[in-house]
Amino acid sequence: MLDSPLLKRCQGYINGQWLDADGGKTLTVYNPVDGDALAQVPGMGPEETTRAVEAARNALKSPASLAKRREWLQNIVKALEANREELGRILCMEHGKPWKEASGEVDYAAGFFRYCADNLEALEPRQLDEKPRNCSWTVHYRPAGVVALVTPWNFPIGMIAKKLSAAIAADCPSVIKPSSKTPLTMVALFTLLDEALDMPPGKVNLVTGSAGPIGDTLCDHPDVRVLSFTGSTEVGRELIERSAPQVKKLTLELGGNAPYIVFQDADLDAAADNLIGNKFRGGGQTCVCANRVMVHESVAADFAERLKARASKLKVGDGLESDTDIGPLIDRNGYEKVRRHLSDAIEKGAKLVMGDVPPSLENDWGGFFPPTIVLGVTPQMACWKEETFGPLVPIATFGDDDQAIDMANQTEFGLASYIFTADDQRAQKVIAALEFAHVGYNTGSGPTPEAPFGGMKQSGYGREGGIEGLFEFVEPQTVPRGD
Ligand code: NAP
Repeated sequence: MLDSPLLKRCQGYINGQWLDADGGKTLTVYNPVDGDALAQVPGMGPEETTRAVEAARNALKSPASLAKRREWLQNIVKALEANREELGRILCMEHGKPWKEASGEVDYAAGFFRYCADNLEALEPRQLDEKPRNCSWTVHYRPAGVVALVTPWNFPIGMIAKKLSAAIAADCPSVIKPSSKTPLTMVALFTLLDEALDMPPGKVNLVTGSAGPIGDTLCDHPDVRVLSFTGSTEVGRELIERSAPQVKKLTLELGGNAPYIVFQDADLDAAADNLIGNKFRGGGQTCVCANRVMVHESVAADFAERLKARASKLKVGDGLESDTDIGPLIDRNGYEKVRRHLSDAIEKGAKLVMGDVPPSLENDWGGFFPPTIVLGVTPQMACWKEETFGPLVPIATFGDDDQAIDMANQTEFGLASYIFTADDQRAQKVIAALEFAHVGYNTGSGPTPEAPFGGMKQSGYGREGGIEGLFEFVEPQTVPRGD
């Protein structure tokens, strides 16, 4: 079991009260390292979710000034900074990512609350300079209403920080549903919110439990005005359909299939160093990590060897050990998917540069998948078409820039992409042609709190982070005043 001062109450949080599920049902959270049961959280459903939405709707009657919201956001930053190590430990144990990386995710989360606190004035009412129709015009940014925030397991605190910071900034009460695989970091965050903030009851609510019934209730309830979801495109599509009759506003951060393009004139060492950081973070279980590495045919073998030299130094193991670089995959399904992608690639002609097909898992939890590199990947292979979500690096080759662009765009996803080249003219042409909302240029860097991030095509819509993210939960209200 996981003992922590931040998990004194492993319960849901509705209307300012810690609560169990009505019937006492629970869900067990497991450590992906060894399948140890870490804790139990309530297995809530439609009734508790409905009560949380009602509490949130009531909280709309207690609006907070910009100054108060800024104070809340700043206090969350302080609470996260003071508890980064303990939050990181909880996150590491339920997700499996190395503790040092998990504490870094807490810093990343704090950055979103800090950014919103520092930029709240963007939501002040705006007076138009012009006076059309002999009126003075004011645009107010009103809270959109109750917002539902649904998050995945791969960044247990990073993903909620993006949404919750913007919801607090907009003064929208929220109902939060974390992934059932990693709800403990969220419970720990609520412990901090409960202790550190003087929020009216119902401003923030937490429901843990089965995704389908909770999700259906959030989609069907007329008082939920915005549904902000991060997760798979498959579930995102279901939420669009389910919430259509209510004409709800959705913001969707969905799956990716990131190309990582290395041109023949690139600094190959820098491209390899960046790929190590980009690909193996979270064990390769991120929406922004390179899923298809594309290297010019003249340098592909050389690049693969440089990458192998670096990847062989990575240590796979329990994230609580200080020298671990890659933890276990989240569960058996995650492990078997990477294994299937690797076997499929080899059967269809790809060559192993590093690693081999590991045995199938006998247990249901995690499983350690070593860093693996294959060369000679083609668009017919599963690892080209689907998100692998694991430490497998599939390398394909291209002959010229146009072919690289065509190959990169050959996916229904449009989230992150990366290019490495020493030629700025080439870079600008390629960046403009890429159908991806994030293009790293000579960097494997992903999102940051200061810049908007989101997807094109079937990677979703809406933005998180930056000024754009601040406006996701407000409704502009325009008031012409005739004098
Ligand atoms: P998922 O299976 O789609 O689940 C995401 C969240 O939705 C979880 O809280 C899950 O709850 C819940 N959920 C599942 N079915 C639902 C339903 N019918 N109604 C409402 N909620 C439902 O995704 P995941 O496996 O957790 O996360 C991995 C995916 O997220 C990948 O595709 C990755 O690319 C994507 N992702 C995207 C971004 C981005 O910024 N675009 C960032 C991170 C991850 P349970 O856990 O209880 O099932």
